[in-house]
Amino acid sequence: MTTLPLDTALLYRSIPKVELHVHLEGACELQTVMATAKERQIPLPFDDTEKFQNLVSLSGPQSSLENYLKPLITTVDIVGGSSKAIEMLAYNFLKTSHEAGVMYSELRFSPIWLSYSQFAQITYDEVVDAVASGLDRGKKDFGVEYNMIICLLYTKPEHSAEMVDLALRYRNKGVAGIDICGGEWLPLHQLHIDAFKKAKELGLNITVHAGEAGPAANIKRAIEVLGADRIGHGYTMVKDEEVLAMAKKLNVHFETSPISSIYTGCEKMGEPHAIQKYSDNGVNFSINSDDPCVMRKTLTDNYVMASDVLGLDYKQIKQCVLNAVDAAFLSDDKRASLKEKILQKFTEVESQYNIN
Ligand SMILES: [Zn+2]
Repeated sequence: MTTLPLDTALLYRSIPKVELHVHLEGACELQTVMATAKERQIPLPFDDTEKFQNLVSLSGPQSSLENYLKPLITTVDIVGGSSKAIEMLAYNFLKTSHEAGVMYSELRFSPIWLSYSQFAQITYDEVVDAVASGLDRGKKDFGVEYNMIICLLYTKPEHSAEMVDLALRYRNKGVAGIDICGGEWLPLHQLHIDAFKKAKELGLNITVHAGEAGPAANIKRAIEVLGADRIGHGYTMVKDEEVLAMAKKLNVHFETSPISSIYTGCEKMGEPHAIQKYSDNGVNFSINSDDPCVMRKTLTDNYVMASDVLGLDYKQIKQCVLNAVDAAFLSDDKRASLKEKILQKFTEVESQYNIN
């Protein structure tokens, strides 16, 4: 018999976690963004923390994904092209991850976005170097293991081949795979298809944003055409039994984010949620924070929402963490070692909370 404490926030803060879907652009902590704005003399209210925070984050759910992305664009305009800021943001990301109980994280980012702002420009390699340096420093200080994922952009097919080459160049320096984001509603450009084909042939891991605001057909396209091993979000799959059956048969992993699914307007509070149907149908999925600083919500907040709002029980939530371990872009050796540490930590937490 499982006995749960009343305070699920405490319990879900304590459990070990693996995060597979989080964007550096959406995980830019406020102090570094403010300091960079000040340093670059950007005329923003950087002396008023609250006003500044309102510019770079959201106070609640939005009516569309486009509106949801606006603060993210403002943030990247401030920190883009600064190796110093990017390094610090990556370091602080692992600090926050550690505080949320994360033992392994895959941080994704777009070198295209982060390389440029109106104030400065750096190369794509310099972006990856800065992220890697911050994460490496963070790993030493906080003990969180990591990998990086390079994001291609649906809107920029002309850069896709270059992004795949970049990921290949950094494959042994912490880049584990590629993603594509920012416009799944667009027709899939041949240059994207060619780039993903090369990535697949050369053994890069692949995750794809699909079925978030777009139809379930985009999930099928991501799996069949782009070779996706994992899908970012995929909520609209619940409306298509054929795609649902296909994803289950292939054991495709879905990286969900309970809070961003509401903030983007893709799912609605008070209505049946895709994650509940995933859970009822035995879909392979995990819980992630996506853009924590845009929503001012932590990874733990996402776990609490999965529990308290979506009704997942402890066993189902623990399974989400174990699913993430199995779907992580890790070698077999590293996965086995991570799983051992995660299970050990679960044993400690279950003993502390009398869960059996
Ligand atoms: Zn995302």
